[in-house]
Amino acid sequence: MRANVPSVAPQFIRSRIGKVCVAIIGTTAAEMLEKASAVVKETPFLEFRLDYLEKPLLALPKLKHFFEDNTAATAIATCRRAANGGKFSGNVAAEMEILSKAAGAGFHIVDLELESAEALKKGELQKLRDTGIALIISHHDFNATKDLDGIYQRIAPFQPDFVKIVPTAKSLTDNVTLIRFLERMTDNSNIIGICMGDAGIISRVLGLRAGSAFTFAAATPGEETGPGQIAARTLIETYRVDQVDAATKVYGVAGNPIKSSLSPVMMNTAFRRETVNAVYLALQSHKVTDLLKLVHEIPIQGLSVTMPHKQEIMSHLEKTDPLSAKIGASNTVLRAQDGKLYGFNTDVAGIVGPLEKRMSLRGAKALVLGAGGAARAAVFGLRDKGADVFILNRTAETAQKLAKQSGSKTIKKEALAKTPFDVIINATPIGMAGQKGAQLLEAKDLNTKLVFDLVYNPVETPLLRLARQQSIPIITGVEMFVQQGARQFEIWTGKPAPEEEMLRVVIHALRQAAEAAAAEAPAPAAKPASSPKSGTAAKAKKAS
Ligand code: NAP
Repeated sequence: MRANVPSVAPQFIRSRIGKVCVAIIGTTAAEMLEKASAVVKETPFLEFRLDYLEKPLLALPKLKHFFEDNTAATAIATCRRAANGGKFSGNVAAEMEILSKAAGAGFHIVDLELESAEALKKGELQKLRDTGIALIISHHDFNATKDLDGIYQRIAPFQPDFVKIVPTAKSLTDNVTLIRFLERMTDNSNIIGICMGDAGIISRVLGLRAGSAFTFAAATPGEETGPGQIAARTLIETYRVDQVDAATKVYGVAGNPIKSSLSPVMMNTAFRRETVNAVYLALQSHKVTDLLKLVHEIPIQGLSVTMPHKQEIMSHLEKTDPLSAKIGASNTVLRAQDGKLYGFNTDVAGIVGPLEKRMSLRGAKALVLGAGGAARAAVFGLRDKGADVFILNRTAETAQKLAKQSGSKTIKKEALAKTPFDVIINATPIGMAGQKGAQLLEAKDLNTKLVFDLVYNPVETPLLRLARQQSIPIITGVEMFVQQGARQFEIWTGKPAPEEEMLRVVIHALRQAAEAAAAEAPAPAAKPASSPKSGTAAKAKKAS
């Protein structure tokens, strides 16, 4: 973009970098270098957030040694001022001093926020550029996604090597605004565009697909430097951003909240395993109308729909399968070749499938605990297969209504001990990690040949433990989770789903989440530790 500046040519920079730049944070040079050393072999494109350092200038000689030892590394120096979402409390002159010295320390690129660039006196920016370092001019909006063209017009006169525009998505539609902006800029290959925030997570993948030169990632979960930032390994291994291109089909799971969903890791693994050029994203959606705008604009080829949208989505679909209509909920949407949206319910298959592997459901006697969405899928699915279904729910009227709709019966807790069942299915959240509430059943109530807990986190719930203690066979909620996902995969791709691989990654992810939760839990009697990791990551406003 710029002329007559003796710098590291952008083409040279571009030949060295991948699509993912890992943000490195730390309060000391030693801490930063430890983190950089851990990631540089896998991802040699790094952003050192010098504003996180207590003494940025003193750290530069140590960082210089790192670049001498790691010649494949390409590094951005950023010293974001507090006024623009960073941690640096100095003024623009102090920021410029640090960035100029960063050039001498072996950094290849500096990131200067637009507000600082605009505050400089004539000639000051040129002095920085005369060091030969490449320049990013960046703009962050922590409140909205608006006037992206106007921001670009403010940045362009500085003729930077890269233009970085980072708004905040408050809705899924805000991502569409960013994507359309990036697409309009296709002649300019030096734009970086990302939406911050949970609703903007998808822009970290779709932005690249629309032409963003690269994106930013956290070194590890918990070290995010911007709201919604994803860990580098997740972006590369789960979302395969290195392979995402214009032909990549987009799928996603829509719900609220959706951040902790295991569907992206499971479905992206399935796509990779079956070499389908597709990516599956977490769509944080407050409103179905917002979701549908995204679906039509991107376009999105298929959706997993979860709480709270499973019922509302139905009225926006061209047609649904008969079970969805009976249950009043669809968890799967397919965009057919005619561009119209069709609904399915694979929760039913996720419950009935594992049961049919173990027993014949015709005439089987089943107890369903709960009368919400999952219970409805269980009850209608079981009735469809000819089972005799009993419902027990906290709110008796809801159970009675569901029993009437489905041709089932209700039952009182007191009757359980003397009523034998072939299977007991828990379709309430009781037993779920973090869920409070007394256990619904005691040992004497487990008068059954099989217990199926639809709760999948933790894998072994208290109810399943109780069943095991009595040598009653069990089915875990993970099996349902994988089965409903496998059927979705098949509806979308027409290929058999790699169920074993899907099960393996879900169990692995659940184990990791449990370990992380255990590590986060404060030690008894000790004050909650403010580790450098959580401390640096959580403080103040963060910029991507
Ligand atoms: P839902 O529509 O909100 O229904 C929840 C049901 O649980 C209601 O019947 C509710 O009774 C009952 N309930 C809630 N809290 C209770 C408590 N403290 N004590 C007794 N009963 C209580 O939720 P859902 O979509 O059906 O999901 C239920 C559970 O199924 C979820 O938590 C999830 O763990 C599991 N699930 C698993 C999968 C999977 O793939 N494995 C898929 C979907 C769901 P009231 O009518 O009295 O409110």
